[in-house]
Amino acid sequence: MRIVDVKTAVVAYHGQATLVRIDTDEGLSGFGEANPDAGAGAVVGMIGFLRDELIGEDPRNVERVWEKLRRRKVFAGPQAGVFVIALSGIELALWDVAGKAAGQPIYRMLGGKYRDRIRLYADCGDGDDPAGSVSGCVDRAQRMVEAGFTALKFDIDDVHHAAKFDAFNHTVNGAELKTMVDRVAAVREAIGPNVDLAIDLHARYDVPSACRIAWALEDFDLMWLEEPLPAENVDALVRVRSQTRTPICAGENQYLRWGFQRMLEAGAVDVIEPDIPKCGGLAEAKRIANLAEMHYVPFAPHLVSTPLGTMAASHQCAAIPNFYVQEWHALEEREVWDSYVVAPDGSGSIVKDGYITVPDGPGVGVELDMDAVRAHAVPGYGVFE
Ligand code: MG
Repeated sequence: MRIVDVKTAVVAYHGQATLVRIDTDEGLSGFGEANPDAGAGAVVGMIGFLRDELIGEDPRNVERVWEKLRRRKVFAGPQAGVFVIALSGIELALWDVAGKAAGQPIYRMLGGKYRDRIRLYADCGDGDDPAGSVSGCVDRAQRMVEAGFTALKFDIDDVHHAAKFDAFNHTVNGAELKTMVDRVAAVREAIGPNVDLAIDLHARYDVPSACRIAWALEDFDLMWLEEPLPAENVDALVRVRSQTRTPICAGENQYLRWGFQRMLEAGAVDVIEPDIPKCGGLAEAKRIANLAEMHYVPFAPHLVSTPLGTMAASHQCAAIPNFYVQEWHALEEREVWDSYVVAPDGSGSIVKDGYITVPDGPGVGVELDMDAVRAHAVPGYGVFE
């Protein structure tokens, strides 16, 4: 079996999501997805740049093909960023081909499953009120718990806070801190002690500010406090983590196993959150998860993908021992998000009661709904043309 073509489509979700299709000479095609955060233009361009290296390869040699792309393009930035994001989307599509060719679900190709269902946390953003009011956070929290979610995440970093002294520095002041604590306290009160609660700071603070926030939230039994600092300096994160009882999580802005090696060896995190369609793909995420397992660190992947990328990531989450909980970030785009694939059980969504059941069909186990893909295709990119 040989790869004969690599094509992309870009659909509206979390900005612009890039979908990848790998075609083979045997008529089998596999589908993957790259993380959307770098913008579709860059990712589609990078996939085009890598295309010639893929043509003629046997797509079932997933890891060899992945490593070949990195080695052939060693001066093109295969350590991080857009290169690795594009590579991740390609890798997910390779696994779909390999699974379909073998007649096996991806989780089985990855060594089999530890669990049938993947627990999700609902990313609740700023709550139901775009201004991020306490009541809007409480309303959304209650709604998601009623919908079956056992874990939630809220954003409490507010770059437009009226009391902010400086729009650019990384500090937090007392008024901002009070707003943060008020929101977290109200949500914790509303959901009780048995629903897990994570808080995201989006890499916006310096060490003293991160410590103030972490200390102020210690009484709320957080599942984690996410990215309190910018991603580059692991030693700074060690300083924050060593000073607080609040569990620290980071990793969505790290790439490949080397990005996580230092973080884990330095003791910078209690939880890691690689983004699987961004950090290198399913096999690389498995290596990262195994590295984390050596440090007894749970694996809680960041995820902002359509149901295609979400389901691919779920196969990897099924195949590792230290899976904790996976992000679900489609609350505000639910209807369109659900429409992108045909759910394996024929229902309208792959998400039920806060869980995804990993399908037993070959490959990723969900088919794109091409009518939905065409309906929400971003103009200018074509649809697998
Ligand atoms: Mg985050």
